[in-house]
Amino acid sequence: MNAQIKPEASQTAYQPAVLPARTIPVAPGDGIGPEIMDATLAILKAADPALAFHPVTVGLKAYEAGLMAGIGEDTWQAIDAHKVILKGPITTPQGGGYKSVNVTLRKTLGLYANLRPCVSYHPWVTALHPKMDVVIVRENEEDTYAGIEHRQTDEVVQCLKLITRPGCERIVRYAFEYARAHGRKKVTCMSKDNIMKLTDGLFHRVFDEIAAEYPDIAANHMIIDIGTARMASRPTDFDVVVTPNLYGDILSDVAAEVAGSIGLAGSSNIGRDVAMFEAVHGSAPDIAGQDIANPSGLLLSAVMMLVHLGRAKPATDIHNAWLCALEDGIHTGDIFRDGTSRQRVGTRGFAEAVIARL
Ligand code: NAD
Repeated sequence: MNAQIKPEASQTAYQPAVLPARTIPVAPGDGIGPEIMDATLAILKAADPALAFHPVTVGLKAYEAGLMAGIGEDTWQAIDAHKVILKGPITTPQGGGYKSVNVTLRKTLGLYANLRPCVSYHPWVTALHPKMDVVIVRENEEDTYAGIEHRQTDEVVQCLKLITRPGCERIVRYAFEYARAHGRKKVTCMSKDNIMKLTDGLFHRVFDEIAAEYPDIAANHMIIDIGTARMASRPTDFDVVVTPNLYGDILSDVAAEVAGSIGLAGSSNIGRDVAMFEAVHGSAPDIAGQDIANPSGLLLSAVMMLVHLGRAKPATDIHNAWLCALEDGIHTGDIFRDGTSRQRVGTRGFAEAVIARL
């Protein structure tokens, strides 16, 4: 992807889009969530003043208020009314404690497709692979993430891997339709059907059936382990990748890091009636409250949201201003490299740099 031409100083001042009013429910999230959300909303307000933001309760604040699902009733009502939500990352305890709010939201809202574009912004951002441009389409409701776990004895526990034909058909068709609509040439399926012959076998079989309906798009299958290795070593072999839930989660973190930083990757969670937009990364408690997190992943998710809502001008304006900031070497710590970067900024400073380039 090429950075855009910067407007000359002599050009007239930036005019934000004049669009119909629209309310967006916003969950700031935990850890770095509130910081990157503040930065993202400041940029959205500058580019699209007709947007209004409705804060909702999700994550630690909800648990502290005694809501065991981690999601306030206000959240469900706002999503029902506005059909969209912009969400910061949520902290989920490891190996015990409450269930993941993210899984609850994706399952309850029927958000079956998780789209995770991983693009290299070389030479402005140092990437392991300069020409990488991959979209990972991750099945988002089934697999081991269906959350069906049992304790059989004190020493034996079990997790059910749930794969259904309708679930496979929906996500595989989504991947091919996405490829066709976005001028992409190839869809690669990754699964482990040499070992999980029934579950991953069904995913692969459905992929082959549906691929035959799209003769204009190349299709191939790889076993997930070598597929992930090749994503790290030769990502330009891939265009669109479709996977079951767990593999897609892991593969997209690998792909995001190979493209430059996990802090750059945005995502959309698409359902029939509702869509949720969030960064690929988590709540990063190790850097929370320090004004050093990169807000780009959430910002690019917000750009995907604007496109989803048909607000093309502010989406393009924000994306171009963001590219200009990167091209000018204004970088947060995660992507700062001597030689490529010119100015190390924090979360707020980066947002100000983007707004100045609108
Ligand atoms: P993480 O993605 O939060 O952090 C991994 C590493 O990447 C850390 O070193 C962190 O500092 C860095 N990093 C992440 N985002 C960054 C950014 N924007 N800018 C700069 N550096 C960034 O993963 P983790 O530490 O495994 O998980 C922390 C918590 O987040 C856990 O509770 C996990 O369950 C949760 N999580 C939530 C989501 C979500 O809400 N969608 C996704 C993944 C993880």
